[in-house]
Amino acid sequence: MKELSHFVGGARVAGTSGRFSDVFNPATGESEAKLPMASADETNAIIEAAAAAQPEWGATNPQKRARVMMAMVSLMHRDMDKLAEALSREHGKTLPDAKGDLQRGLEVIEYCIAAPQMLKGEYTDSAGPGIDMYSMRQPLGVVAAIMPFNFPAMMPLWHVGPALACGNAVVLKPSERDPSVPLMLAELFVEAGLPEGVFQVVNGDKEAVDALLDHEIIQGVSFVGSTPIAQYIYSRACANGKRAQCFGGAKNHLIVMPDADMDQAADALVGAGYGAAGERCMAISVAVPVGEETADRLIDKLVPRIETLKVGPYTAGDDVDFGPVVTREAKERIMGLIETGVNEGAELVVDNRNFTLQGYEDGFFVGPHLFDRVTPDMQIYKTEIFGPVLSTVRAGSYEEALRLAMDHEYGNGTAIFTRDGDTARDFASRVNIGMVGINVPIPVPLAYHTFGGWKKSMFGDLNQHGPDSFKFYTRTKTVTARWPSGIKEGGEFNFKAMD
Ligand code: NAD
Repeated sequence: MKELSHFVGGARVAGTSGRFSDVFNPATGESEAKLPMASADETNAIIEAAAAAQPEWGATNPQKRARVMMAMVSLMHRDMDKLAEALSREHGKTLPDAKGDLQRGLEVIEYCIAAPQMLKGEYTDSAGPGIDMYSMRQPLGVVAAIMPFNFPAMMPLWHVGPALACGNAVVLKPSERDPSVPLMLAELFVEAGLPEGVFQVVNGDKEAVDALLDHEIIQGVSFVGSTPIAQYIYSRACANGKRAQCFGGAKNHLIVMPDADMDQAADALVGAGYGAAGERCMAISVAVPVGEETADRLIDKLVPRIETLKVGPYTAGDDVDFGPVVTREAKERIMGLIETGVNEGAELVVDNRNFTLQGYEDGFFVGPHLFDRVTPDMQIYKTEIFGPVLSTVRAGSYEEALRLAMDHEYGNGTAIFTRDGDTARDFASRVNIGMVGINVPIPVPLAYHTFGGWKKSMFGDLNQHGPDSFKFYTRTKTVTARWPSGIKEGGEFNFKAMD
């Protein structure tokens, strides 16, 4: 069986801990590779090697660093098919989805080409007599990125790109579910001209993560994953004096007003609810039609659309709508939550509990499910299911729908479908959620804006990509400089001249 590795000093390096985790092909259910789980000692050595490589990279001028990003963009285009295949094979998503994952990561690398512009400091001429004041942005040093399984290219690139462009060295800890694409991206960065050791990949689990969180060399920690782990990582990183940004789970509501274009809303819900098997932090998992009539019309439109969705392996061609979920445990968890929903009294209007795919009986496939008449006290409403399951909560009024979204503990994304500008504007202004769509179901901001949720979907201050990422991965230093000419009297500095 294939044995994967870490990536250290510009090359793949075998693990030495003797501990391994299986990497599955979710479509067949077979383990296809063994992934080394780094020990704390291995992780520490990888961090220390990154620290040795960082100063020279940090001192490299931003334009040269930007050129590495330019080359990386070309190399990713060159290898797009190969990367997408490797991504789908371990994650399970369709090839078009895998290319989307890569493309949205690549767009942040394109944005990083603006590093010379983004890293320009501020300058005040003559802040006092003979005194100038300027601030500059300097890299943090060595930073860690601990990433989730669901976007194995995009999520690492959102963090590694800006961190490198700012002059940091990065230690990436990819998800143990789908580590091959991050390793391929590390190789491409070296081919793009990144000095060896500046981008290291450590594969592992809690032991490696804890070593990253505790090592004094690590200055910044970026985490993306589930909320309980985000909270844990945020508190441990902060307790150790590190800068941290930790992005957590989601339960995104899409509100359908009575005046919405119902076909458009139904199409949007199907794409946003079931695309990538619902394994997106910006997936819509709750539909909130306003009024009984709207709800009935929406359900009538949704059911035939959901029933004709095609579930299959990524190898089955472009007409597959979504693939398997990532692991057997994920499938069992989702199926368990569907049973919970039925037992709680929700109405399962599209029921695929007996779904199997001929020839792929051992794959981790879950058919699409639709619940109606879900209520806020139910477990299936409170929990992030992270599977192809859409819940419908009927609201009596716009205010009730808004309150639902606002009262939920998560605050990643939300959307409203309406033709009424006043309602849309009111919603965008009042809702306590980080990313809002108006007749757009998955409002993922582009690379030059920032991405981040509110409430239990985000711990920290600065968002992912866009201008915030350049702030997160740099420290501001402000220099006040005084030169003798103009304030020197009788060979002494005249401090009064500063008044
Ligand atoms: P996860 O929390 O299980 O794992 C994320 C990372 O944390 C992995 O690298 C994993 O190895 C590590 N990890 C897991 N348990 C740990 C522990 N006990 N101690 C230390 N490290 C640990 O998340 P996942 O299942 O890979 O990803 C899915 C989750 O990510 C969903 O909740 C989804 O909403 C969320 N997500 C959020 C965003 C966002 O921007 N808010 C984006 C993508 C995914």
